[in-house]
Amino acid sequence: MIATKKDIPILREGGRHLAEVLKTVGNAVRPGVSTDTLNTLAEKMIRDFGDVPSLIGYTPRGAARPYPATICISINDEVVHGIPNENPSIITEGDIVGLDCVLAHQGLLVDSALTVIAGKGDMGAKALLNATKEALMAGIKMAKPGGYIGDISSAIETVGVKRGYGIVFELGGHGVGNSVHEEPYVPNVGDAGTGALLTPGLVIAIEPMFTEGTPRVKLLKDGYTFVTKDGSRAAHFEHTILITENGHQILTEL
Ligand code: MG
Ligand code: MG
Repeated sequence: MIATKKDIPILREGGRHLAEVLKTVGNAVRPGVSTDTLNTLAEKMIRDFGDVPSLIGYTPRGAARPYPATICISINDEVVHGIPNENPSIITEGDIVGLDCVLAHQGLLVDSALTVIAGKGDMGAKALLNATKEALMAGIKMAKPGGYIGDISSAIETVGVKRGYGIVFELGGHGVGNSVHEEPYVPNVGDAGTGALLTPGLVIAIEPMFTEGTPRVKLLKDGYTFVTKDGSRAAHFEHTILITENGHQILTEL
């Protein structure tokens, strides 16, 4: 989507709502809580804002059925798109819990994700989360008019390599705003100066995923949940951003 002047405050307000949802659900993640409960909390918050949960009923290209929940919850070796309300999981101490959600505010969509640790967690979990968040911010920093999608990809890849994590390259970011997934694709690995040109008004979701082992993922039989091929743990952070006249604006922060 190329946002107009009129779209920008709507996207920003929706982004603020989504940030509040993710913060509240993130704070509710603790040992003993069910993923189903977290999904219900996310849906209630979105509806209370007067917004629409965009993932329920959405069928991505290639999927055999619509996604059944408001929020994706992916635990430990689950990378993304875990289903919280079919055979719900009970969160346990030290779990790495990814929360990924899309909402529509006045018809415009924003997409964001974060990963939290249930309870205290171990040093490895904290380092994995920190590196993945660092990669997201490094990618965002490269987002400016006159730059290329590959500048973002390369910045993400550089952090992953430096920190020694598996960089999930089979999944990535995307355009967003009018629908859940739009052009251009935003890979998590790539070369600076390649790919689509970044122009003012472009709205994209940037979403690095790092793992403690292999970068390869596989899809579970539920048709949605991606897990690491080697069972290693993964983290995921995502913001929707706007390319502005002189840089970028993060839409999905408080
Ligand atoms: Mg997302
Ligand atoms: Mg996304």
